[in-house]
Amino acid sequence: MEMNANPNPKGTKTMKTTETCEMVACPRCGGEKRILTFSYVMGGICFKCHGVGKVTAEAAEKYEAWKRWKLSKVAADVAHAEMEHAYAKAIYDAE
Ligand SMILES: [Zn+2]
Repeated sequence: MEMNANPNPKGTKTMKTTETCEMVACPRCGGEKRILTFSYVMGGICFKCHGVGKVTAEAAEKYEAWKRWKLSKVAADVAHAEMEHAYAKAIYDAE
């Protein structure tokens, strides 16, 4: 009788592994596994998910955070460049 008993009735160990490794569509390639823009490098395979099309939820979250930071930095750079351009133009116009 003991032999027939499920040693892991709730499958807790398996469930926990699945939860901690929740997979979501790769935020970089959108689950396409490849990025056409980079097709000249390694056939455009997505370096974020390594051509799997999915990443862990944690990795996706980190990528989104990085992207937000990157975008804000780019926006700041553009604003800075525009400001310098406007300044240069003001000097040019004044002369
Ligand atoms: Zn990807």
